[in-house]
Amino acid sequence: MPNVVVIGAQWGDEGKGKVVDLYAGEAEAVVRFQGGNNAGHTLVVEGEKIILHLIPSGILHPDTVCCIGNGVVVDPQVLLQEIDGLRAKGRWPGDDALVVSGAAHVILPCHRELDKAREGRAGRAQIGTTGRGIGPCYEDKASRKGVRVADLLEPEALLPKLEALLDERNALLRHLGAPPFDPRAVWEELCAAGERIRPFVGDVTGRLHRWTREGRKVLLEGAQGTLLDIDHGTYPFVTSSNTTAGAACTGTGLPPRDLHAAVGITKAYVTRVGAGPFPTELHDAMGDRLRERGGEFGSTTGRPRRCGWLDLVALRSACRMNGLTGLAVTKLDVLEGIDPIRVCTAYRLDGERVDHVPARAEDLERCEPVYEELAGWTEPLAGARSPEDLPANARAFLDHVAEATGCPVVLASVGPGREQTVEFANPFTLCD
Ligand code: GDP
Repeated sequence: MPNVVVIGAQWGDEGKGKVVDLYAGEAEAVVRFQGGNNAGHTLVVEGEKIILHLIPSGILHPDTVCCIGNGVVVDPQVLLQEIDGLRAKGRWPGDDALVVSGAAHVILPCHRELDKAREGRAGRAQIGTTGRGIGPCYEDKASRKGVRVADLLEPEALLPKLEALLDERNALLRHLGAPPFDPRAVWEELCAAGERIRPFVGDVTGRLHRWTREGRKVLLEGAQGTLLDIDHGTYPFVTSSNTTAGAACTGTGLPPRDLHAAVGITKAYVTRVGAGPFPTELHDAMGDRLRERGGEFGSTTGRPRRCGWLDLVALRSACRMNGLTGLAVTKLDVLEGIDPIRVCTAYRLDGERVDHVPARAEDLERCEPVYEELAGWTEPLAGARSPEDLPANARAFLDHVAEATGCPVVLASVGPGREQTVEFANPFTLCD
């Protein structure tokens, strides 16, 4: 009865796309449970590049059912574009392959416009929102005014809901100097999208309960990363949803006892996009080297990512918070040729040694890393396929990560390709 949740253990961009794609091949269902189309996976299948923001990457495996859980926020236009895009490439497996929860909230045009209108205002711009309306959509969910996917299928009831919501949102848009929305025009657009989405709307929770009873393999796919969690991340430099493993329950309706394993994905170093505390950030040639070798530039914006040494304090905290049963270490190849390799084992704050992540971003900002040095290796890793193929010092690096976090390394990734993977243990069979 293995349900496995895969979580980003850092600030996102850990290489979840590759790892989820690997595990999706074994899973009978892949489920998104939080976030929206701010996630993004670039997959190369048979030489063809496919980018998915909302639909789980399991859609490329013909026998896998993909679900979008209640905790996700859905932009209907993006969903339909992704379906159309896959159809056009001849990669749409059939309408039964996708189930969207009726309880998932809908990103409306006013949400996108609010994101844009707030951009550039002090503070907001710094948080680095992706401008896709995800934050404002979660705001309306919490204010009990949101529109859900099931509402799109009931046009009569939808119009008054939209009128009530836009009454407030238009006032804010006007205040921000942005144009207001006509409820009827939005309604017409949503009803049309609703008709196209209707075949996919279904009971995700019920299916998950049934599949769990039947012992099928379900993969729960997290987006963003643990340190971006709205409660446990470096608030306010966080995303608008819970990104930690607990959200796999609230965002799907699966009970905690039905999460059987949790794999956290971490790079062999750290990157961060946008502002916010980052104790191990490198502002020197080593930072540039990691950025160049790791291709650490935003996939849509091309913006350079901030780079630094692996932070074991933050990773240890991610292991505990998510109950990680395994770590997948990606981009190990990027460290080749670096000697010594540094890892942060504690922080120093106001002269005191600290071995946890302080709750306040302001305090984390003031933390100085305490480093330990590990011996590097010069052998290229790109061809490694099994643990024996790894140089002794690369193995020692992974052992050190496992020991410092108390979490076994189940996988090491040594290149972007599916096959450039060294598997130590399989999370699905581990929890059988
Ligand atoms: P995600 O949002 O967590 O899926 O991360 P990204 O899509 O930003 O993935 C990071 C990028 O790194 C992608 O272009 C991957 O192809 C690439 N990548 C993933 N794993 C590895 C690896 O082990 N080594 C190298 N060099 N690149 C990798």
